[in-house]
Amino acid sequence: MLRRRSVFRDETKLDINYVPVKLPHREAEMRLLMEFFNFALESPGKMAQRVLITGNVGTGKTALSQRFGANITTEANKRGISLHYIYVNCRELRGSLFLILQHAVSTFHPNFPKRGYSAEEILTSFMQILDEQKSHVILIMDEFESLIDREGSEAVYKLTRLQETRQEKPQRLSLLCVVRSLKSISQLDVSTRSTLQSNVINLEKYSKEQLVDILNDRASLAFKPLAVNEDTLDLIAEIAVSESGGARFGIELLWRAGKYADAGDLNTVSPECVRKAVSSIIPEIRKSDLISLGLHEKLFLLGIARALKKDEKAYVTFTEAERSYAIVCEEFETTPRSHTQLWKYLRSFSAIGLISSEHVSETSRGRSTGISLPRIPTDDLEKELKTLLENQD
Ligand code: ADP
Ligand code: MG
Repeated sequence: MLRRRSVFRDETKLDINYVPVKLPHREAEMRLLMEFFNFALESPGKMAQRVLITGNVGTGKTALSQRFGANITTEANKRGISLHYIYVNCRELRGSLFLILQHAVSTFHPNFPKRGYSAEEILTSFMQILDEQKSHVILIMDEFESLIDREGSEAVYKLTRLQETRQEKPQRLSLLCVVRSLKSISQLDVSTRSTLQSNVINLEKYSKEQLVDILNDRASLAFKPLAVNEDTLDLIAEIAVSESGGARFGIELLWRAGKYADAGDLNTVSPECVRKAVSSIIPEIRKSDLISLGLHEKLFLLGIARALKKDEKAYVTFTEAERSYAIVCEEFETTPRSHTQLWKYLRSFSAIGLISSEHVSETSRGRSTGISLPRIPTDDLEKELKTLLENQD
């Protein structure tokens, strides 16, 4: 049997666990992390560090912390320093300090007994192992709020005040804690909180343009050359921003859109593939929104859908939409509404999230508005509108 063609070159590059080597638009934060942990390269053992990374979903917290861990240990090992990073996701370990420490120990001693010890005892053993091996560890605790929720201040206190019981011994354990917002650490006692809060790196949400860069990078790793065009990436970035899903949502959408392209046996990932992918993630087709529209609003929307479909584009201009609407009006034997009225429709569509519109270019003749349908495949919308229009009295 012939192998079916695919738009993908290597879809694992879009896997949620893949950590890219390059993180565009996080260079400054990466440098700051390196600064905070510089002692681990220059004078390991002399101090320990606690750093907090905050940021919304999809701002690259997990990717940045893992890439940082890998980079700094590589650098340390080049210099003959035994530095390790251990990454744990606290939520996956049910917020249990015991399980987190057990995971940490097992990276050095895979056969460490699973039972019979308290969290304190494991921590003591862990430090002993590090002393014996003259090793240093950066423990990255992602989704750190799970640990706080389950164990409260005490667990965090144990980790941050560790050195007080070790007196003359070298410092071996640094912490990099990852949370969505500083609010989650507000329930900790004051001193623990202030220890953590002294070094905070906040990851701002990505702008649409930044997401385009990120998606572009990833697309070139994951897809065959020319399989994804700029328009498609632009649409994905716009949706990811409007859904506040950041890079995570964008990358997932890119992958799904690729799947729809393969399913349709297409050569390229078109904007329509993106719309299909979105409607599979965001299930609402917004039928109720459509029913409540007036006759000419429906006709105009149908015009927009057809214009988008005809040219396989992510955006159509207002003029194109208006032209297409005029043809729809002919078909339904009605006189088109005025230009001004259509602008009003457009604004209300945009307000309820049916379409998204933005100024795509500033030309000598004024602004040109790009209209897109981010959430609904044009086919579905057209079908839905036709049914409604045929039953309209
Ligand atoms: P968070 O942990 O903040 O929710 P992630 O680190 O999981 O976000 O990022 C979500 C997805 O986006 C991952 O696939 C990640 O590799 C990717 N990503 C995030 N930021 C960047 C970036 N600056 N460059 C490249 N990929 C990124
Ligand atoms: Mg994360």
